[in-house]
Amino acid sequence: MSSIPDGGSVPAPGAVLLDAAVTTRCRRRVHLEHDPAAGRAVGATGVEGAGQIVLPEPDPGVEMRVADAAEHRAQLAARFAADLVDAYRRVPDGRRSERVEATRALLADPAVRAVGAAELPPDEGRRGHAELLVRAGGDDAGWYPVIVVRHRVTDPGTGALTSPLDRPHPSSLTVDPDRKPRAVSRDVLRLAHLHRMLAAAGLGARRAWGGVVGLDADCVVWTDLAAGPGQEAGRSPLDTYDRRFADRLAVATAARTGGPALAEPSRITECRRCPWWPVCESELRRADDVSLVVRGEDALRLRGRGITTVRSLAALDPRQGLPAPTEDGDEQVGGELTADLREAVALARAWRADVPLVRRVRRPEVPRGAVEVDVDMESLGEDGAYLWGVLLSGVDVGLDHGYRGFVTWDPVPTRDEARSFAAFWAWLTDVRRRAAERGLSFRSYCYNEQAENRWLRGSVERFAGEPGIPAAAEVEAFIASDEWIDLFPAVSTSFLCPHGKGLKRVAPSAGFGWRDPEAGGENSMRWYRRAVGLDGEPPEPAMRDRLLIYNEDDVRATHALRTWMTSDAVLAVPHLDDLRPDPGEPGAPQDRVSAAACAAPRPCG
Ligand code: SF4
Repeated sequence: MSSIPDGGSVPAPGAVLLDAAVTTRCRRRVHLEHDPAAGRAVGATGVEGAGQIVLPEPDPGVEMRVADAAEHRAQLAARFAADLVDAYRRVPDGRRSERVEATRALLADPAVRAVGAAELPPDEGRRGHAELLVRAGGDDAGWYPVIVVRHRVTDPGTGALTSPLDRPHPSSLTVDPDRKPRAVSRDVLRLAHLHRMLAAAGLGARRAWGGVVGLDADCVVWTDLAAGPGQEAGRSPLDTYDRRFADRLAVATAARTGGPALAEPSRITECRRCPWWPVCESELRRADDVSLVVRGEDALRLRGRGITTVRSLAALDPRQGLPAPTEDGDEQVGGELTADLREAVALARAWRADVPLVRRVRRPEVPRGAVEVDVDMESLGEDGAYLWGVLLSGVDVGLDHGYRGFVTWDPVPTRDEARSFAAFWAWLTDVRRRAAERGLSFRSYCYNEQAENRWLRGSVERFAGEPGIPAAAEVEAFIASDEWIDLFPAVSTSFLCPHGKGLKRVAPSAGFGWRDPEAGGENSMRWYRRAVGLDGEPPEPAMRDRLLIYNEDDVRATHALRTWMTSDAVLAVPHLDDLRPDPGEPGAPQDRVSAAACAAPRPCG
């Protein structure tokens, strides 16, 4: 855990300056980032001074993505410099104020047509930078913003407005015959932010165009920010931006100046990766907030009907439906739930009784095979998949049962990954062939196939032609076959999980425990860096062993979970109809089993 300074003195409130990211960020997070008395961690907030809450260290996965994005931007800057030659100037590195001055000077030079790494003058509560500004030209003295991002900004199709990288200007755009735009809200809102900043500085172009260069780095994709519809129905991107920015500025200003908070915590999807979760979680738990079990819009809707706590949700009788909206609840917050009310109530009861899983079905189903393989892959960001772990079980096909890992300890990215992937694929293919020759059914399993499929496809693509690398069609056929099973949807279908559906949350109900008490995705990235000496230190063999044990346990956890789900032991998990309100709550039948009574697993199938 990172350390924080003592509470000490709280600084005088300063001017609020927000970057574009606030427009897609949780409102409570904007509040916390500007509340001088809130807990603080490196990277979590720019506010000096701190409370007493210790926030977790930054996720190493996030740090790596930041580093990868910086590398991507550097490559594009070099490309612009090479393509645009004398028309291009780059703002030198330095303090923000120095970069602002350098940007101003370059924009005032009539010989300069494009400015890289531009830092715009802060104004009207905004600060921001653009990877590139291009001069509008003609009668227009203004500039268009271009940003560089490390995700895809088009899909196959037609209709994107693109210009070549060596002509990054709307005057060169055409309707692309091979790409359709993939609208990414945060990109469009960042362009709107930059457009407003340029306008405030008297540097805006008449037309509100903005460009994005994405992961493929093969063109600029242009958006007319004033054209509707934008990110919200009926609004142009600029309208959406203006509305959101004004809201976030009000939230931040209230927090900075000690005014009444304009945003309260409520659990949403973003909480999973938010550095402020320890702060918000303690507040939500103290309040027994209903979003602990029903997040997002559904929590808002329940509040709009007067159900603000987990306790009040648990006490509802789902057969009676939701109470009427409260008088001050507006139409949206008083609307119907997207979640099934019966399940929402069961989740609340399970939460209160500390029941880790609730059965949604009478008997879970997972396809089984005579020969079975559990698979788990370890990767480092976008750099490569360094370990494919497998566990063979079922009928003997002449190969050793148990775990084995196909691994490369050359730091990724490395061509040696082709060798380890080819060895994994050859082994898997051999098992399938042996099962088929014996007339035995075969199944292989993973937990949440997204990552495995991404690297199955990615390995074939990157290492095409290397020894043992299969054809893409062969891998696609395997992914599409009923021999490759993702256990995650089966868990989602079978259970309500008040504390999440991650393997580490769910597998303990099957009696599985990880040998390493610190096992987890983030830690595995730290261990990998030490295992291969990524930070300049000698490689640590002990970290390699630790990663292999971690991977083996993940594979064994998948095996334990699915065999448990297809055994009678799973029937000890309470069914959602078995959970009742706590005794003493309104509507709690005293002769029926309560949620508390279900805390201990019992057969109820
Ligand atoms: S933990 Fe959730 S509610 Fe709290 S600031 Fe982060 S995203 Fe917002």
